[in-house]
Amino acid sequence: MKTRKKVLVTGGAGFLGSHLCELLLSRDCDVLCVDNFFTGQRANVAHLMGSPYFELMRHDVTFPLYVEVDEIYNLACPASPIHYQFDPVQTTKTSVHGAINMLGLAKRTKARILQASTSEVYGDPTVHPQTEDYRGNVNPIGPRACYDEGKRCAETLFFDYNRQFGVEIKVIRIFNTYGPRMHPNDGRVVSNFIIQALKNEPITLYGEGDQTRSFCYVDDLLAGMTAFMDTDASETGPMNLGNPHEITIRELAETVITLTGSKSTLIHRPLPEDDPRQRQPNITKARALLGWEPKVPVVEGLKKTIAYFEGELSAAK
Ligand code: NAD
Ligand code: UDP
Repeated sequence: MKTRKKVLVTGGAGFLGSHLCELLLSRDCDVLCVDNFFTGQRANVAHLMGSPYFELMRHDVTFPLYVEVDEIYNLACPASPIHYQFDPVQTTKTSVHGAINMLGLAKRTKARILQASTSEVYGDPTVHPQTEDYRGNVNPIGPRACYDEGKRCAETLFFDYNRQFGVEIKVIRIFNTYGPRMHPNDGRVVSNFIIQALKNEPITLYGEGDQTRSFCYVDDLLAGMTAFMDTDASETGPMNLGNPHEITIRELAETVITLTGSKSTLIHRPLPEDDPRQRQPNITKARALLGWEPKVPVVEGLKKTIAYFEGELSAAK
């Protein structure tokens, strides 16, 4: 009988996690999806529930978890500024206690573990594009700190568990990723703009909209994430994963209006405190090690995401 790899995905009912569970099942893994449903939803994995190789468990990673697994993808953590600032203490706990619990599990089961870290560890970067050796410009006491510093501390824990206990770690720093199943109310720019455009409501540009981001489509991100998981144990990262195509937030708004044929106009709202001015990944490391390259142009990815939100909005009517 074929033995399937047992893979734990924490935060598996969220946006990235649900796509990852789907991908791992298609690769004949036995998937345990763990989520406390803070921002994730059962609906995101409802289509996987019929599989005998998929199991959904409600659990908060700030508490210990006793299961037997071969591999762990640690994605549990709210990712949008609105959600991670809603209960900042819980956000830090999720990153830090969650990392300790999942690393403890990895240590006991000898599982390899991947951490979904973030470009936010670079804060408002003074080096552009960001390379992995850049140490960042994070405000440790600002409203984004619960997320940024939580993720930075999680990275510290990953590297210390690796050095101290020999746990096999993989740390990726994810740059803005978008696609179907983003939470409609999470306030992230891509979902906000698409929903506003589809409803012909004003599009909310924070500040002048000349800040930049580089948007990666979910399928590209997961191809890089899973390829990195499969590399030699000596490859710990941290490794940037994202699409280096950088655009201003205003350009994003204009593209969404064009693609949806919307009547929306642009309105300005105050720029949130500590909002990074610019962000673009340097992906030289990922290209060299994985032969990985994002393939989905932003217009194509946006079209797929718009189609998803159109479906969601018409189902809600
Ligand atoms: P998401 O909010 O859709 O998913 C996060 C999931 O974690 C949700 O299902 C949520 O319910 C769950 N969760 C939160 N706290 C938990 C806890 N204490 N215990 C168990 N589950 C918990 O966000 P996402 O975009 O899918 O992000 C997934 C991961 O990737 C996060 O760790 C995030 O920091 C990281 N990341 C994402 C992006 C991006 O652009 N999407 C960028 C950088 C990093
Ligand atoms: N943003 C915006 N309007 C919105 C939501 C976000 O102009 O309705 C801006 C936000 O200020 C930031 C960028 O879009 O500069 C990306 O925001 P998001 O919350 O998606 O992610 P971040 O990269 O800031 O974590």
